[in-house]
Amino acid sequence: MLEGKLLIGGKWISCKSKFESLNPATGEVFGRACLAGKKEVKEAVGAARLAFPDWKKTDISERARIFIRIGDELLKRKQELKTLITMEMGRPLFESDIEVLLTYEMVKYFANEGKKYLEGEAIQINPDTFSFTRFEPVGVVGIIKPWNYPMLLPFWAIAPALLAGNTAVLKPSDLTPFVGIEVGKICQDAGIPDGVINIVTGDGSTGESLVSSDIDMVSFTGSSQTGKNIMKNSAEKLHRISLELGGSDAFIVFKDADIEEAINGAVWGRFMNCGQVCVAPKRIFVEDDIADSFIEGFVNKAKNLVIGNGLDPGTDIGPMVSMEQREKLELQVEDAVRKGATTECGGKIPLPLQDGYYYEPTVLTGVTPEMKVMNEEVFGPVAVISIFDNMYEAIACANRTVYGLGASVWTKNLDIAMRMSSQLECGMVWVNEVCTLHPQCPWCGIKHSGMGKDLSRYGIREFVSIKHVNINFGTEKTRP
Ligand code: NAD
Repeated sequence: MLEGKLLIGGKWISCKSKFESLNPATGEVFGRACLAGKKEVKEAVGAARLAFPDWKKTDISERARIFIRIGDELLKRKQELKTLITMEMGRPLFESDIEVLLTYEMVKYFANEGKKYLEGEAIQINPDTFSFTRFEPVGVVGIIKPWNYPMLLPFWAIAPALLAGNTAVLKPSDLTPFVGIEVGKICQDAGIPDGVINIVTGDGSTGESLVSSDIDMVSFTGSSQTGKNIMKNSAEKLHRISLELGGSDAFIVFKDADIEEAINGAVWGRFMNCGQVCVAPKRIFVEDDIADSFIEGFVNKAKNLVIGNGLDPGTDIGPMVSMEQREKLELQVEDAVRKGATTECGGKIPLPLQDGYYYEPTVLTGVTPEMKVMNEEVFGPVAVISIFDNMYEAIACANRTVYGLGASVWTKNLDIAMRMSSQLECGMVWVNEVCTLHPQCPWCGIKHSGMGKDLSRYGIREFVSIKHVNINFGTEKTRP
């Protein structure tokens, strides 16, 4: 059994209070991690504060070299990392492999490109006066992350935040504390100085303590409800906050699309990571002319997905992360069926897999706007398909949600693609693609999906303040 410690000021420290991390494929206890309280959080923030002045002064090229080494560590440890991720949160090994590679690519991107996005610019005002801008680190960043990409999302903030000269305290999810601890070990082994990154494991109360501590910024990814709580709790101190929250993305298929490709995209997007992806297509809309063939093809593929332990090489879909998440999903499906939806396949806990938190890949049709599956975020392997008649109806249906994270549009018609991308109320639109991410492109949501900007030049600038310096070096007086 693994025993977890806290990383504070470069030292691994135990604490009295502990909590268990379970393997969702078996329900067995996988390890015991420290539940950091107010005292430990204060010490971690104190260590980050102490390390800040020196780290901020380090040449950015030196900081970038450390992140190149972090990338190398990720590749070197890929096998052990992907096994750990699969054992702690359930997804198939091949998907954990993708997560480690995405983390590597993103870290390398910031290490190689970050510097140029932090260069200030000179602004000539008149012959005697000129201005310039400086980008300065914010200070100590509290990084609070969820369990669904437990390696990628912490580094998603750590890389730009630290490269920009901040120090940080990471609070990983209580469902994946050991992946979070591994993040700390990788940083240490790559040469991050003591106190620059600190790790406090724990639950929501640990996160709350971090938000109300002496930090300068919160970088949060997680549910919309927790995002709202963080915003409220940050108001008193006026912390800077970056919030990447939940989504209920529309996946819209027009009759001229390549239907086979659209079905493959929808199956991958909806069932990858057992449906537990912020930008998964949570509401699928199909034009009426092609609805029957799309639904038939989609249901056939969903039925053939192999459910099992993520460690088995033949597994397509692992367990959900926890009993609590599965119970929430069951209630959403029950609500839809009670209100008249048709279950085309799935809708149950698979009989041979009673020990872990498994749920069958499920397809619901005949859904209506008042059902929970159309209003709440559906975070599990349940696809919800509706039919539309024309583009205007598709836009209205897609926008009928409080969320605004992403959307996926399938068409060969450029005019439709362009109109849809301007009319959809969300932060990202994929055309003939789904759920892809590129470190050089921004990742962002609107409405209840948050107000953060991650990745790209915009992502690194979330972690700096801009200062304007104005210099008058002329001999003549400029004031009236
Ligand atoms: P969650 O909100 O329950 O928890 C996220 C983190 O916040 C955890 O570390 C948790 O311990 C901590 N936390 C809980 N209560 C807190 C509080 N009051 N103050 C401070 N911290 C607190 O979310 P989750 O179940 O871990 O993750 C799933 C959610 O994350 C989904 O809604 C998903 O869409 C979203 N998500 C969004 C993105 C994105 O980029 N927009 C990416 C991944 C996941």
